Amino acid sequence: MNKAESERLAARFEDLGYRPAKSVSEADLVVLNSCVVRRSAEERAVNKLYDLRHLKKEKPVIMLALTGCLVDSDTARLKKRFPHVDHFFKAGDSPPWLEKTPELLLPRRPAPSAYVTISQGCDNFCSYCIVPYRRGRERSRPLTEIVCETQELVRRGAKEIILLGQNVDSFGRDLPDKPDLADLLAELNGIAGLARLRFLTNHPKDMSYKLIKAIATLDKVCGQINLPVQAGSDAILEAMRRGYTVDRYRRLVAEIRQNVPGIAISTDIIVGFPGESPGQFRETMDLLSAINFATVHVAAYSPRPGTAAARDLSDDVPPGVKKARLAEVERLQESIQAADNARLVGETAEILVEGMKGGKWYGRTRADKLVFFSSDREYQGQLVDVKVEKASAWSLQGVVKTENNVQEEK
Ligand code: SAM
Ligand code: SF4
Repeated sequence: MNKAESERLAARFEDLGYRPAKSVSEADLVVLNSCVVRRSAEERAVNKLYDLRHLKKEKPVIMLALTGCLVDSDTARLKKRFPHVDHFFKAGDSPPWLEKTPELLLPRRPAPSAYVTISQGCDNFCSYCIVPYRRGRERSRPLTEIVCETQELVRRGAKEIILLGQNVDSFGRDLPDKPDLADLLAELNGIAGLARLRFLTNHPKDMSYKLIKAIATLDKVCGQINLPVQAGSDAILEAMRRGYTVDRYRRLVAEIRQNVPGIAISTDIIVGFPGESPGQFRETMDLLSAINFATVHVAAYSPRPGTAAARDLSDDVPPGVKKARLAEVERLQESIQAADNARLVGETAEILVEGMKGGKWYGRTRADKLVFFSSDREYQGQLVDVKVEKASAWSLQGVVKTENNVQEEK
């Protein structure tokens, strides 16, 4: 979400004649887009802000602005804490010294894979999460606006669109005709020139059978979803206020896999939530082994100011225990991914080429696997069939299968 908003801000400034600076010290304007979902992210943003103090001293004409979730309603307090910052504006808002950002302001040349925000904010109030306090209640964008934005991005060269919302399954509930994500996907699937559609994040308590059917039947919708479970213990899930049980989650995964064979399912896990016992952590490990997720984003719990968990529960799992649990999840997941990726050796997969890194082209399969290959040809933004030759837990290496007819027909 922050990345998408940063791209949009950059487009706004480019539209006004600004150009990207080579380094922070050469810039006339610096906008820091902050995240506070975990304490470590907040600390990084605060340290960066303190670093910028020296720059402001050396070059007082530089304009400094802070946005993202570090900005709450109390800007007077922020100004007192960071007096060298000229402007503060909330996540997703327009810079206050400019007029409102036009809805359809897009990068001139979008990346092959571009983000489109479909809803802002969240109504769920999971007990650990600061998002609803900093990004407000859920607001869906009108369906026609999302379709127009997608059409325009595709016209400018995007091949893949990733729809963003804190809970994409509640998209549309606040709109007049109450369209849902499946309706939106059906509309977008008809856009000529668009090759792939993805979306994140799903919420296990809200994901519908209609959406599962849409994933199964719409050809541009990739067989890949993000379905955060957060914990493998019912007691912890209840304390997190997630609104589902482990059994319901397992049944949902079974239903998804039955309807969309081979679908890649990713998840998020929090370890060391208040009161998490060794046995409850074991339940999370058992769930990870049983489900075989494609990717796991794991984080150690940190209390976030203003949330119910920070107010009512004691952060009683020691930092060393959280660290050890986090490492254990990572080790297990690494072995699951290594085995999963090894099975792909010898197979051919379609890659959307996003760019070059270390002299190699890279891109992602429809199941969101990162693939590298070497070639002297220009492949930026193209769909290519690559035969996988080597695999590690984190990426695949391959060779282009159809070097002679570079996919013009795709
Ligand atoms: N809306 C999504 C969901 O329901 O999972 C994701 C939202 S959150 C911005 C991204 C991830 O950050 C969460 O899935 C959770 O694992 C992690 N997270 C949120 N609050 C946290 C906290 N207080 N401590 C550690 N991790 C946290
Ligand atoms: Fe935070 Fe996601 Fe829960 Fe919303 S659904 S409160 S964004 S974790």
